[in-house]
Amino acid sequence: MTTDHADSFDDLGIDDRVRRALNDVGYETPSPIQAATIPPLMAGRDVVGLAQTGTGKTAAFAIPILSRIDTSARKPQALVLAPTRELALQVAEAFGRYATHIPELRVLPIYGGQSYGVQLSGLRRGAQVIVGTPGRVIDHLDKGTLDISELEFLVLDEADEMLTMGFAEDVERILADTPDTKQVALFSATMPKAIGRLAQKYLHDPVEVTVKSKTSTAQNITQKFLQVSHQRKLDALTRVLEVEQFDGMIVFVRTKQATEELAEKLRARGHSAMAINGDMVQAQRERTINQLKDGSLDILVATDVAARGLDVDRISHVVNYDIPHDTESYVHRIGR
Ligand code: AMP
Repeated sequence: MTTDHADSFDDLGIDDRVRRALNDVGYETPSPIQAATIPPLMAGRDVVGLAQTGTGKTAAFAIPILSRIDTSARKPQALVLAPTRELALQVAEAFGRYATHIPELRVLPIYGGQSYGVQLSGLRRGAQVIVGTPGRVIDHLDKGTLDISELEFLVLDEADEMLTMGFAEDVERILADTPDTKQVALFSATMPKAIGRLAQKYLHDPVEVTVKSKTSTAQNITQKFLQVSHQRKLDALTRVLEVEQFDGMIVFVRTKQATEELAEKLRARGHSAMAINGDMVQAQRERTINQLKDGSLDILVATDVAARGLDVDRISHVVNYDIPHDTESYVHRIGR
């Protein structure tokens, strides 16, 4: 645990161009995870951060990386591994926003489901920051199209989720291709033993940071529950939708089939609802999330994995239609 607390971005040694971008996006003060991790990352230390989506963890690693990267070199210097394509895209977009005043910086998301062509030309153009899902990163390593032998920074984002999704071997394989001298930041919402082992094996004397609270932009969460028999769940949900004032809503169910079935039933009752699950092709999932963002869709019926890392400001309500498997997922579901 560190007790570092910075109440301004001014004294953290952040590159001036990044500092200006933070002004542009309207960040006034560092969030707790940023205050705690930016100083050690700027100083070259490894960091283990226990933090969920919504805490500002993306900027916590993106700001130091962008401040310290050598943009005159056209080779991969930073690699961020993320469990899903959605998260990889969100992280890549965030890097882009913080780098608006660094025109020579190139960020490239690489994930499965997108054609290799775009990714290959991005790599040839000399992207310095790569944000990728483990599977596709390995594909590029195998093909010899991605060289991470001179990597300076490695970030494991939502590390617990990557392990849950079966990427443990892939992550270790990627780590093995990177030089020992790199700096590593590992972020995880939970700290199962496997993460502890990973950190112990691959990080050097890391600074450990724990953050529970969300950024100041996140609102407090009111929690309610309704006890109903299984057969009455749909009626109960319909009633909630009638009486609650909501903007955007995520309804969590346990299976892929249930997302489709429930979305269908809600549409039949006149609601604007769509399913999102791991079976849908990437383009379709992105379209649905964008509809939720732009307000043309109000209700997203999702499984935990499909909704992982989603960060949509409009979401005012989260409904646990099916009870989550464990308390961690409950916290993850509602704490966005
Ligand atoms: P993250 O946890 O990285 O997904 O970030 C959650 C949200 O907080 C994103 O919408 C960020 O744009 C926003 N955010 C990150 N850092 C700050 C900050 N220092 N001040 C205000 N908003 C922030």
